Amino acid sequence: MNQSLLDALAARLDDGAILTGAAVSARATSWIDPAPLRAAAILRPRTTEQVAEILSLCHAARQPLVTQGGRTNLVDATHTTGEDLILSLERMAEVEEIDGANHTMTVQAGAPLQRVQEAAAAAGLIFPLDLGARGSATIGGCAATNAGGVRVLRYGMMRELVLGMEVVLADGTTLTSLNRMLKNNAGYDLKQLFIGSEGTLGVITRLVLRLYPAPGGFGTALIGLQDFPTAVALLHSLQHDLAGELASFEVMWNAYYRLTTTPPAPSTPPLPQRYPLYVLAESLGADTAQTRAL
Ligand SMILES: Cc1cc2nc3c(=O)[nH]c(=O)nc-3n(C[C@H](O)[C@H](O)[C@H](O)COP(=O)(O)OP(=O)(O)OC[C@H]3O[C@@H](n4cnc5c(N)ncnc54)[C@H](O)[C@@H]3O)c2cc1C
Repeated sequence: MNQSLLDALAARLDDGAILTGAAVSARATSWIDPAPLRAAAILRPRTTEQVAEILSLCHAARQPLVTQGGRTNLVDATHTTGEDLILSLERMAEVEEIDGANHTMTVQAGAPLQRVQEAAAAAGLIFPLDLGARGSATIGGCAATNAGGVRVLRYGMMRELVLGMEVVLADGTTLTSLNRMLKNNAGYDLKQLFIGSEGTLGVITRLVLRLYPAPGGFGTALIGLQDFPTAVALLHSLQHDLAGELASFEVMWNAYYRLTTTPPAPSTPPLPQRYPLYVLAESLGADTAQTRAL
């Protein structure tokens, strides 16, 4: 590892921004791999300007740098060697502003998805992206992977939920386009290039997210089915009959259903285990009743 680069970084960052040695190896490699994390250092900026300084210095020194969010990806995308530097956005995790009139949120990229959801809910709105890793996955990581989650049918993927973005390129150049307008047809939509780019084109530092009114009611149903064509027919019928309120339609194969409803799994089977397929469907609508049947 280039010590003069580390010294230059230390001179520009605050105390506690750089972790080395045991502070690195005390962390797990990922959510599924408990092996000690390997890296020459973890850099933890507090501002976009510091991210730009880090990238500029690493670019000049030709130093490999891996951006890490919550490390919940399922494809080893945040793998590092002992020679790499890690850029972690864990100290850039604030919800900066919620615009209740325009239904937008400006947020730093290191904020966990769950914090985003809770901040929206506190304002009487929802940020509809939802996935099992919500407590650890960061909103920047969700954008970098174009995460989908369980409500894509109704609200789309991250690509449809980001209105504006600030991003720092590999040489330290900062592109700020924190647009809040829903109906914006001006020029190229550069943010779309970075959504799904998995950290290869730049570091996402801040986002403007699209929020939605909180639904007045919801309904859930678990349905056992005989075959896949029936599942497709059921999907089309729910989309039609629920008039756009269908939010989730998760298909489970019999082996998965058995695994998750047989001891020592924490739940007992709500339906018998004999069906080849199961569908968990969710509707979110204007109905003010607490729940209603699908
Ligand atoms: C239980 C569970 C359920 C999941 N369910 C879903 C699901 O339903 N749908 C789905 O799409 N995914 C799902 N995932 C995968 C994962 O949660 C998402 O891909 C999530 O968006 C990753 O966010 P992260 O902050 O953990 O990113 P990381 O895992 O830390 O990083 C992922 C990639 O993005 C890059 N990156 C991270 N932050 C930034 C940034 N600020 N700027 C630029 N690049 C960055 C990294 O370099 C890496 O290439 C699930 C994972 C788990 C463990």
